[in-house]
Amino acid sequence: MEPEKMDENEWNYHGEGNKSLVVSHAQSCVVLRFLKFLPNINKSTEEVYQHLHNILDFGKHIMKQFLGENYVHHGEVVQLPLDFLKRLCLKVQSERPESRCEKEMDVSGYAMCLPNLTRLQTFPFLECRPIFCIEIKPKCGFIPSSAHITKEIKKKVCRFCMHQHLKVAKGKWKRISKYCPLDLFSGNKPRMHFALMNLLQESQNNLKVFKNGELIYGCRDDQEHFLDLNELAHHLKPFFFPASGLISGPQCPKTVVKELIHMLTSVLLNNSTDTARAANIMPIIPLSQGRNYCEASHFCPHLLNSKHATETTGLPTGCILYKTLQTQMLDMLDIEGLNPLYKRVEKYLAEFPEERSTLLLDGPYDETFFEKLKDLSLEDDGSVSYAVTKIQQYRVAMTAKDCSIMIALSPAVQEQCLDPWSVIRSSQSSFIHSVSILDLDLKPYENIPHQYKRDSKIVNHYLKSIKVQE
Ligand code: ATP
Ligand code: ZN
Ligand code: MG
Ligand code: MG
Repeated sequence: MEPEKMDENEWNYHGEGNKSLVVSHAQSCVVLRFLKFLPNINKSTEEVYQHLHNILDFGKHIMKQFLGENYVHHGEVVQLPLDFLKRLCLKVQSERPESRCEKEMDVSGYAMCLPNLTRLQTFPFLECRPIFCIEIKPKCGFIPSSAHITKEIKKKVCRFCMHQHLKVAKGKWKRISKYCPLDLFSGNKPRMHFALMNLLQESQNNLKVFKNGELIYGCRDDQEHFLDLNELAHHLKPFFFPASGLISGPQCPKTVVKELIHMLTSVLLNNSTDTARAANIMPIIPLSQGRNYCEASHFCPHLLNSKHATETTGLPTGCILYKTLQTQMLDMLDIEGLNPLYKRVEKYLAEFPEERSTLLLDGPYDETFFEKLKDLSLEDDGSVSYAVTKIQQYRVAMTAKDCSIMIALSPAVQEQCLDPWSVIRSSQSSFIHSVSILDLDLKPYENIPHQYKRDSKIVNHYLKSIKVQE
């Protein structure tokens, strides 16, 4: 990226979350990811630079170990000319959804440069090929079983399903989604199909579809869908059912959507050859620890009662869902068990503020930090060190509960000699695909009390709303 040649006209608004705003380059396959701050928060250039470096290190040295080398792109920190940033900021402002404008794009001079994951990563030389990308934000895929939990309902209904009630009551979404993360993470194909169908029908901010890098389906935050499912099927049809000649096949939208769901399921269950180091050196957390279904799930209950559907997870250990779930499960105490440990550390820091850096609360996110995460012991010896380890594991788990999985698919051409892992077949065509995970920022230490309050708010609201329904 040559600073003197930066032209805002070559960059387009791509999307944003709560913490960052993303613009994509019109031709080359890269995006710039900027931090966002509330207008009254004045961060120095140095602070922004440090923050971005922390994000980079965390992806590179920590999340890669958990999720696998090939799935994580840590990117690089780049410095950009201030006049370019000012013009870019003005340019994208009109495209931002109103609900996200509370925070402003940071224009202090640094951003993260990342590959554009809505385009195919595996085969950059196939750029001219049409490409679809499905982004799934799966959220937490297990029910906690921690002994510290005080509300029984948390051991029966998953966080996502409970949270839906509060979100609808607050007006964030119009309808309750029938998606339940436990169905997606079940490894059971009918349940996964059900989960994906519900994500497509009520996508909220958990599913987006990009065509050639452009968002074509999914809520842009609180705005309505860009397309309905039939229109999405119309876009997808030539991919799954390539026309012989000019007339495309007779498949109805439902068939096309089903084909997409099948394809996504195969990709999500695909056993990657890539090894996440943590999988080899960390004791695997037993997936059968808690229950593996959620009582609020809309998946047909009589199927759930059958032995087949409640069997321990069918997730292959190399697949992206398994790795994500294992990382999420580093939250072993639940926020209720964690909050007292946070208080323990806070008390200690009040007495010895200079110890903050020795405890590695704010990094550096390196080998040493990673080594400490491997201690899964739950025997609390009352020490600050135990508390810090659990807090850090919780923060890593929270990151994995909030990340997005990007699945890019592009039609394969027969004569190409491709790595067998990258080709995936649907009933009438084959695709090359790539899978990546994004949004892997470490959640702030200071967030813990807020998380604790939020948890009880969600649970209390859920209990109230199901009582009303009864
Ligand atoms: P959240 O509120 O979920 O924490 P965030 O503020 O951390 O979000 P991201 O999720 O990183 O922001 O980015 C916002 C959106 O921008 C993503 O959901 C995705 O659609 C898009 N995006 C981010 N990074 C990339 C990338 N490298 N390639 C393509 N699209 C991207
Ligand atoms: Zn659920
Ligand atoms: Mg984020
Ligand atoms: Mg995000």
